Amino acid sequence: MTIKLIKKENSNYEKKLLIIGVFHGDEPQGECFINSYLNKHAENGKNSIYFIPCLNPSKKRKNINGVDINRNFPTKNWILSENNDYFGGEKPNSEIETKFLVDLINKNKFDAIITIHSPYKVVNYDGPAESLAKIASKFLDYKISNDIGYPTPGSFGTYCGIERNIPTLTIEIDENEDIEKLNKKFEKFFSYLENKY
Ligand SMILES: [Zn+2]
Repeated sequence: MTIKLIKKENSNYEKKLLIIGVFHGDEPQGECFINSYLNKHAENGKNSIYFIPCLNPSKKRKNINGVDINRNFPTKNWILSENNDYFGGEKPNSEIETKFLVDLINKNKFDAIITIHSPYKVVNYDGPAESLAKIASKFLDYKISNDIGYPTPGSFGTYCGIERNIPTLTIEIDENEDIEKLNKKFEKFFSYLENKY
């Protein structure tokens, strides 16, 4: 499996951002928003953005190996869990998607990272990301939170935000919201990130 990484960058960028769609295969919306944005905004802005339109093409929550990628990161709180919907693998960092992101984050100094999930209608943030969460909240009209309300051992937000101090947003879209309206909101948000943030 190859993971598609699309780089929009210039040589003297101010910030470098990473935006990831479809962390969970049954939450496909992020890929639409990213592809739609890339189709309409071919020019590079002042910030570099790396896009992964679809991290997990399994069409199910877990990846093709039956592992929840968002519980597979090598964090201090990773645990060997029961083999349920949130199974974090037999070992941390066992999955190709996890290894790809760990490697990408080790090789690049990202100023912020955003992942797109559904359906909880909230901008969750980890690490020093409250101000970025507030910006996202303005574009999307969702509330912000730094506590999703349940433990997430081995999560990407813990790995990047809490343990590496990279501002990290986990945007949970409202799956009942009109997809075209949402797409327009994300277009404006991504454009802001590329040109103004
Ligand atoms: Zn998700």
